[in-house]
Amino acid sequence: MRAARFYAAKEPLRIEEVEALPPGDGEVRVAVEACGICGTDLHVAIEGTIQLPQTPIILGHEAAGVVAAVGAGVTRWKAGDRVTIFPNVACGKCYACRRGREVLCLQAQVLGISREGAFAESVTLPASCLLPLPAEVSFPIGALVADAVSTAYRALAHRGALHTGESVAVFGCGGLGVHGIKIAKLLGASRIIGVDVARGALRRAEEAGATHVVDASGGEAAKQVRALTAGDGVDLAVEFVGLKASVSEAIRSLRRGGRVVIAGVGGDRVELPPLRAFVGGELAVLASMGFDREEVETVLRWVAEGTLDLSSSVTDVIPLDAINEGFRRAFTKEGDPIRIVVRPGG
Ligand SMILES: [Zn+2]
Ligand SMILES: [Zn+2]
Repeated sequence: MRAARFYAAKEPLRIEEVEALPPGDGEVRVAVEACGICGTDLHVAIEGTIQLPQTPIILGHEAAGVVAAVGAGVTRWKAGDRVTIFPNVACGKCYACRRGREVLCLQAQVLGISREGAFAESVTLPASCLLPLPAEVSFPIGALVADAVSTAYRALAHRGALHTGESVAVFGCGGLGVHGIKIAKLLGASRIIGVDVARGALRRAEEAGATHVVDASGGEAAKQVRALTAGDGVDLAVEFVGLKASVSEAIRSLRRGGRVVIAGVGGDRVELPPLRAFVGGELAVLASMGFDREEVETVLRWVAEGTLDLSSSVTDVIPLDAINEGFRRAFTKEGDPIRIVVRPGG
């Protein structure tokens, strides 16, 4: 089968012929119909800011497809089933796994990061990674639900516990933030403020349902957020950027008793406000990492029912041969893409 393999940062991926692994006990082989290009892929392949434990490796962790073959002992799935792939293969035994928090499993293998990924005609993985993809949901959307959308859902709905009538500020209106805004709207937020430095991102934030946008390119985003909330600040701020400046502005945009959820990842060291303000305002700082199976299922159900419209989230579907050009466009944000999706089969 053909696959896009990563050898080293700042080098193009190589399209190579590799062996498609037959499914072993409890495993399935999935013919990949769609695999999204995520910011993580760009950190790995273009910036080199995320190092992988082994190379060469097939990248791609945001995937959907059709079951092609099942191994011994797999009864729940059969060839032809439409599936979304849950990208974490957790150990199932550790403290985190036993508490249902597989995302925190230290032994977890992540598709396209620490085990062979889905920028390939097929991928072989444990059957426990499969989730049914409803017939109403296309493969490209089924792919990006299992990362870009579910990550935003966890951050807002579960970690952020956003309630009807609350105000929310979303810092970073790229792939995660735009979906965060749509989810905030579904959860009944009264005021949704999209914050970004790029005009294109702010326009998309408005299209997604932001009631207000803040251009943070001149700094002082928090001041603008406060001005939009009669000086009070927001109940919830969600940070999808992963930079110190943006985290500080997110914290400073909170009202008394407010909470911030940080979902952006990076190397920056962040600071709390002076304790007088932090403790006195009884603020909460939370982190949100990835998503669990139920979160993916909830989002898929919303999409299937037509509650959550993701039709504008797939900017482009490209063949495997065009993957390096897709990475380049996702990185330079040429044409303001939300998600570029690779269709490895053709
Ligand atoms: Zn990702
Ligand atoms: Zn574990």
